Amino acid sequence: MVLAPTPVTTDPEATGMDAWPHVVVVGGGFAGLKLCHSLSHQPVRVTLIDKRNFNLFQPLLYQVASGLVSAADVASPLRQMVGQAPNVRVLLGEVTDIDPDRCELICNDRRIGYDRLVLATGSGSAYFGHEEWRPLAPPMKVLEHAQEIRRRLLTALEEAEQTTDRSRQRYLQTVVVVGAGPAGCELAGSVVEMMQSAIRRDFKRLDPTLCRVVLVDAVQRVLPAMDSGLAAEAAEYLRSQGVVLLLNSMVEGIEAGRVRLRREHSPHQIEAATVCWTAGVRGSSLGKLLAERTGCATDRGGRVEVLADFSLPDHPEIRVVGDTCSYKPPGEERPLPGMAGPAVQMGGWVARDLLAELDGRRAEPFRWFDLGSMAVIGPLWAVADLRGLRFTGFIGWVLWGLAHLAFIPENENRVALLTRWLWQIATRQRPAMLITGRPDQHLEVEVGLEPTPSPASRF
Ligand SMILES: Cc1cc2nc3c(=O)[nH]c(=O)nc-3n(C[C@H](O)[C@H](O)[C@H](O)COP(=O)(O)OP(=O)(O)OC[C@H]3O[C@@H](n4cnc5c(N)ncnc54)[C@H](O)[C@@H]3O)c2cc1C
Repeated sequence: MVLAPTPVTTDPEATGMDAWPHVVVVGGGFAGLKLCHSLSHQPVRVTLIDKRNFNLFQPLLYQVASGLVSAADVASPLRQMVGQAPNVRVLLGEVTDIDPDRCELICNDRRIGYDRLVLATGSGSAYFGHEEWRPLAPPMKVLEHAQEIRRRLLTALEEAEQTTDRSRQRYLQTVVVVGAGPAGCELAGSVVEMMQSAIRRDFKRLDPTLCRVVLVDAVQRVLPAMDSGLAAEAAEYLRSQGVVLLLNSMVEGIEAGRVRLRREHSPHQIEAATVCWTAGVRGSSLGKLLAERTGCATDRGGRVEVLADFSLPDHPEIRVVGDTCSYKPPGEERPLPGMAGPAVQMGGWVARDLLAELDGRRAEPFRWFDLGSMAVIGPLWAVADLRGLRFTGFIGWVLWGLAHLAFIPENENRVALLTRWLWQIATRQRPAMLITGRPDQHLEVEVGLEPTPSPASRF
């Protein structure tokens, strides 16, 4: 038996909207939020379910991890974002099962019926079969991860301030970032700047020359998905800031305070107080569950393979969008990348298609518009590739800043972020250098992945 046996119907209460079709959207991230925005004030009843009560702007998590901005600057309450539309209901809860035969899902031990279901539950971090590394090297997917990375970084600096042993200081001031994609490069660049400026300004005894940020990846170059010229410039900039690049290096083991690598066939190890993981991503486990319930296929990354309208074979009433789906544009070999741009465009298109369905039509076929890619590598320094127009340095940073401010879904956060960035440029100060939270808090929060086995010792 797959579903909880204690059904309680929680379909929307009787309102003037009863005759309207009920669209249930699971996940209020980039894709789900865009979908709800597009369906608000339209003749459909929308129920948005998310296990968090906020939308998270993941691209700026590295700024939370490095103390530049605080949690509220990158998170916006869903009720305030879409819950005020009369036809949109927001429910806090984790969807744990789906019954496609009865068009119901299970959330908070209750059944919720739907006419149309849209799954937009994102993705989670993957450790390539080494889940035991997770407590030692936090990923960067949810707020608690970023706060934990910041807690480890700052706690190590505080301890280093209280020791006279230089080798211990060197260890405490060493950070390893695994994964040289955009998130890893952004984190490494921001952390090295944070450590050096904080040590010069806020600590009396620490030596900035002992700071070491090591960026590790098995690939041959940083930013492998970007243009090779831009990647080379980004690598050069990172090196100039003091980041050590260990490419062609496969992580073989992570133990407390140590990362073991295989580098050009030779073993290599780094002693580091802080290790962060940005290397692996896989689709949300709800996608996998949906595949089990409907018999649809998933790709190697656990993402649900969808048809051209993001529905499932034999289940036109179910759509899957954003990071949870594997969508190949017609004639393309590779699915669209797991990025904010495709997620937003998918969410908007599915909303248009659902509304067209009400009139017995279909929307124009989905066409992905590639806006380009960018990564910010240091203060006032970024690389940007806008459909072949390539920029680096300050111009890249301005473009990066404008693009991110445009994507941030709330005006208040837009203003707050701009203020924080300008303040940091002017003063080099980071207002969110706070040590908060419990050492294990990040282990209990994941974005829809299978539960992580609890480590033996929690405290
Ligand atoms: C550190 C980092 C940096 C990034 N930088 C960039 C960048 O610079 N540019 C870019 O384009 N992309 C970037 N991305 C990728 C981008 O953030 C994702 O592609 C995007 O968030 C995907 O949107 P989504 O709507 O599919 O999922 P998400 O935004 O992840 O939203 C999924 C939502 O589903 C909810 N959920 C999950 N499971 C359940 C459940 N069982 N029940 C209820 N709710 C559930 C979650 O709480 C979450 O709110 C970055 C990602 C990370 C992690």
